[in-house]
Amino acid sequence: MRTELSKSKRIVIKIGSSIIDANNGSLMSRICSQINQCLSNNKEVLIVTSGAISQGMKIMNIPQRPKDTKKLQSLAALGQQRLMLMYEKLFSVYTRRTAQVLITHNDVDDRVRYLNIKGTLEELLINKVIPIINENDVVSTEEIKFGDNDNLASMIANLVSADLMIILTDQKGMYDKNPDHCKDAKLINKILIDELNDFLLGSF
Ligand code: GLU
Repeated sequence: MRTELSKSKRIVIKIGSSIIDANNGSLMSRICSQINQCLSNNKEVLIVTSGAISQGMKIMNIPQRPKDTKKLQSLAALGQQRLMLMYEKLFSVYTRRTAQVLITHNDVDDRVRYLNIKGTLEELLINKVIPIINENDVVSTEEIKFGDNDNLASMIANLVSADLMIILTDQKGMYDKNPDHCKDAKLINKILIDELNDFLLGSF
């Protein structure tokens, strides 16, 4: 992992909700300090973050994640600004600037929007601003329903031609099924690129 990191110039880091909420935020302080170190070593870092819904749940004192999509979307709208405030505070310690980027899967499928996103992200990176990317949950529900932003992170990694994508999560790795819902889900230790394509096309 260290070798991969040292070889890579442009890195996409996906941070899951469980990481953001861990140890009362102290894990996030450590992660942001390490990201700052990467930036000081002349690397470019883009963050794909979850956590808007969980921050919204905290604001509204809701202990159990609701199932209703509209409720989840409104909690995301509520929590997104607290999430951004957290990143702004954590990176201001190192006088780093952050920018909020909210996108949907459809935006990436549309050629003009794709180019707009790419142009904006490149411009932010040139100006040494850290893009903090989340799904625009108010207009799209793909990640709320299926992804926890893992798919969004891989789309962004492709879009900016990243050298490395890191997923920070409380899961042990990639499973053949969703381990939260299926008890027989198996951990995949190694996956070849051809198998990954089959997996993504649903024939794994
Ligand atoms: N966009 C969602 C959020 O920021 C991530 C997916 C999820 O947790 O459902 O909360």
